[in-house]
Amino acid sequence: MPANTVRLRIKRQAGPQAPPVWEEFEIPYRPHMNVIVALRDIAENPVTRDGRPTSTIAYEANCLEEVCGACAMVINGRARQACTALVDRLEQPISLEPLHRFPMIRDLQVDRSKLFNDLRRVKAWVPIDGTYALGSGPRQSPQDQEQAYPLSRCISCGNCLEVCPQYNTRTDYVGAAVINQVRLFNLHPTGKMHRAARLDALTGPGGIQECGYAENCVKACPKDIPLTDSIAAVNRQMVGHLWGKALGR
Ligand code: SF4
Repeated sequence: MPANTVRLRIKRQAGPQAPPVWEEFEIPYRPHMNVIVALRDIAENPVTRDGRPTSTIAYEANCLEEVCGACAMVINGRARQACTALVDRLEQPISLEPLHRFPMIRDLQVDRSKLFNDLRRVKAWVPIDGTYALGSGPRQSPQDQEQAYPLSRCISCGNCLEVCPQYNTRTDYVGAAVINQVRLFNLHPTGKMHRAARLDALTGPGGIQECGYAENCVKACPKDIPLTDSIAAVNRQMVGHLWGKALGR
């Protein structure tokens, strides 16, 4: 029988410069609740376990079905999505912390702009602006579609970056999620137009050579994306690309 209450310990921080404090909450249990539901219940009555009124907890959430990536946080020490973290399967008190590799905004909310800027840096898209009148583009083979589909499941949650020892404030490393997107878009028959620019973007500071092969990323990914395969595949593309440049091809 589940207990009729749920206990949570939440790391609070009023802002980037404010000192972190832990607050504990105890809320009524409901069947099938996940961590987002628990946070929403606390928001309805933000009072700590010892009866002290407190401020509303800041966090991000949107789709509630592990598609948008917004609710990534550290739950009982593990980076994951709060929407698929079911209370019934978590040891209590459930500890909640923000992702540590991104700048803190407030409480459980962080600024993932670096991830989105790095996706821009490698042109993680298919360039089709202004091509409508040209008719349909080249077709992608079923074999390439099969290879691309698992790569396309990335939700930009940042969990793979949270566990990467190379992704920190001392380096500009783009991380596994971005390298995987390079592989995905270099595979696309129209996306290939930016192949050289994408690979160029992955040379130099923050590029693929900064991967330390810790292989934590692939274990942390909620979408089972073969991230280490993607890093190896893009490394192979990079060798050919750099040889081609050296030989003036
Ligand atoms: S590769 Fe996986 S863990 Fe990394 S951002 Fe994408 S979905 Fe999240």
